[in-house]
Amino acid sequence: RATLIDGRAEAAVLKGLVAHEVTRLQARGITPSLAVVLVGEDPASHIYVRNKIRAVEAVGMRSISYRLPAHTPQAELLELVSSLNTDAAVHGILVQLPLPAHIDRDVVTDAITPAKDVDGFHIDNAGKLAVGREDGMIPCTAVGCRLLLRRVLPDLAGLHAVIIGCSNIVGRPTARLLLNEGCTVVMTHLQSRDVAAEARRADILVVAAGHAGLVRGDWIKPGAVVIDVGINRVEQHDGARIVGDVEFDEAVLKAAAITPVPGGVGPMTIACLLWNTLCAAQGRGTGQLPRTESAG
Ligand code: NAD
Repeated sequence: RATLIDGRAEAAVLKGLVAHEVTRLQARGITPSLAVVLVGEDPASHIYVRNKIRAVEAVGMRSISYRLPAHTPQAELLELVSSLNTDAAVHGILVQLPLPAHIDRDVVTDAITPAKDVDGFHIDNAGKLAVGREDGMIPCTAVGCRLLLRRVLPDLAGLHAVIIGCSNIVGRPTARLLLNEGCTVVMTHLQSRDVAAEARRADILVVAAGHAGLVRGDWIKPGAVVIDVGINRVEQHDGARIVGDVEFDEAVLKAAAITPVPGGVGPMTIACLLWNTLCAAQGRGTGQLPRTESAG
């Protein structure tokens, strides 16, 4: 049976490290601050934002939250972003996605000062990562995936990594980080001809499609490491449950190591957001995370 990769434990180690650095900054009179902007009433977004704010405050940082009605004009949102850009007391800015349909996500993302763009979605940050640079802000989930992989595979160089799903938020940045590690990376998506055949060649399989049960046991090469990014809510006879994109009970019999859902990538995403906010307050990009003691 596969080893479980404990995202909660790894996240706790990283949060401890961030909290320590926050104390050092506070001694110099700086409290890292994250502005979180939520537009509209999307229930999942409300939960994500609440969790992020709690996590920010738990490590001693300050959060400033803005909740705007769904009909907020784009110009008004851009004005808020602009005022946060110039506010020296704000180190990080996060505009929760998705935005209402009348607002152009790219325009808003690119309005955030790159150095405060803790999500790493600004075109300058995405561009840096695209050319192999890690001195910008790097998307949190991708950083979290790499950190979990490194925990079980200290040297990723030369390994065959297959990514299922290539959104700008998860799949693409993760592919780029694994390329930086020396992996041979294959990116697959909805139009790929035979995703299962690609998956079967993977030493590392990262799944971020948003499709419950997509990856079956027979898609997994024996001994592979599987990172399941998916978060899907499925209704069952005994209530709703959160599951990943991987058929866990099958995969656990084939893989060498696997992340559970929940308790895998999710907690790492939040911990990496804290890391990015810390880096923003220190005036630098995400960079390489320090190697921490194993969470066990
Ligand atoms: P998205 O919808 O933007 O992108 C999905 C990608 O998967 C696309 O590239 C699409 O082509 C591909 N895809 C969809 N179905 C596929 C299929 N059947 N075969 C092959 N490729 C397929 O989604 P996203 O924002 O990248 O999120 C993906 C999943 O990850 C969602 O379940 C989301 O909730 C979850 N997520 C989790 C975290 C976390 O912290 N754990 C963070 C972000 C997103």
